[in-house]
Amino acid sequence: MYRLAIIGYGGMGAWHHSNIRSHVKEIEVTGAYDIRPETEQTVRAAHIRFYESLEQLLSDPQVDIVTIAVPNNFHKELSVAALRAGKHVICEKPVTMNAQELEEIMAAAQETGKLFSVHQNRRWDKDYRIVKKIVSDGVIGTPYSIETRVQGSRRSLHGWRGYRINGGGMVYDWGVHLIDQLLDLIDSPVVSVDAHLFSVFSEEVDDNFKAFLRFENGISALVEIATNCFISQPRWHVSCTDGTAVIDNWDCEGKMVRLTSDEIMTWDNDIVYTSAGPTRTMAPRPKHTVTELALPEVKADWSEYYKNIAAVLDGREKLIVRPEQCLRVMKVIDTIFESQKTGRGIACRI
Ligand code: NAD
Repeated sequence: MYRLAIIGYGGMGAWHHSNIRSHVKEIEVTGAYDIRPETEQTVRAAHIRFYESLEQLLSDPQVDIVTIAVPNNFHKELSVAALRAGKHVICEKPVTMNAQELEEIMAAAQETGKLFSVHQNRRWDKDYRIVKKIVSDGVIGTPYSIETRVQGSRRSLHGWRGYRINGGGMVYDWGVHLIDQLLDLIDSPVVSVDAHLFSVFSEEVDDNFKAFLRFENGISALVEIATNCFISQPRWHVSCTDGTAVIDNWDCEGKMVRLTSDEIMTWDNDIVYTSAGPTRTMAPRPKHTVTELALPEVKADWSEYYKNIAAVLDGREKLIVRPEQCLRVMKVIDTIFESQKTGRGIACRI
């Protein structure tokens, strides 16, 4: 049994506690520290120890693992401190504010020999798992264009997410999840990034953004996060050589349509009249040449993240969310900000 303490007992800190308590028998959450003294009551009500200070938590020999769930700008300093105190460390996403900060954490992990991982729990999202299965099974061919979107319309960034100094904004908050999924899905270097960040209502940070990533193997991906979108597009739209897959929403409604017949869709020279006007290229395809398929069934469970951490510490499994993968994600994020700053697409090799 590994004993874990949480730094930052806000929304996500409390979630880590209840998720581990309910689903991960290999780990026990024993305490928490939060900079706001008023959280003491909440922590005690959750029947774990409240640490009066960071030092008290880090010097507790009972603690094996520390989970860091504070605003993004504190991740680096706290991760390095916890590693140096001899703890294994799980840090919330985005792991840091930039790639260089993560390199500093990785050096500390190397130095101390302790495990370091990032809570990229959305690798276990059902929608993402479905896309991963469609791509790996090749059921509609090879992907060449992938659109991944999360769109809301609340026009508000909660708390510290609205402040630049805390690492607020949608690239850091949601973009990091979608980029992490894409880099996990597509086994090829990112060779260009063209990003468009918008501040529709926020005075400090991006509240909406789109980024186009081009991969060396020819796949293009569009990542979009919106908080000002009143008519949503599908969560995923995946174009493959032999068909198309769409996942409409978080409930994973959607379908695949696959070519069933190689019947050549050309015409003689006569004009074809369609509702799009006289066009042969865009004339509707006869129904018998395609097949509609249900999306595949997948297993999706966020608690797999911590089960993997315990198995790695036992020496039974390899680490799934590895720092070097997160470093690529942070390099893409650095390039997104560079693209926005320069107003141009940026060639890279990440
Ligand atoms: P929150 O504001 O609800 O909670 C943050 C807590 O950290 C607060 O209680 C605050 O008092 C405390 N805190 C702030 N600075 C601190 C410091 N220096 N030392 C100790 N405690 C400190 O925020 P949240 O929504 O819980 O987000 C926390 C982290 O979790 C962020 O990095 C966020 O991106 C991440 N997050 C991840 C997911 C996910 O699905 N993986 C979801 C939500 C949030």
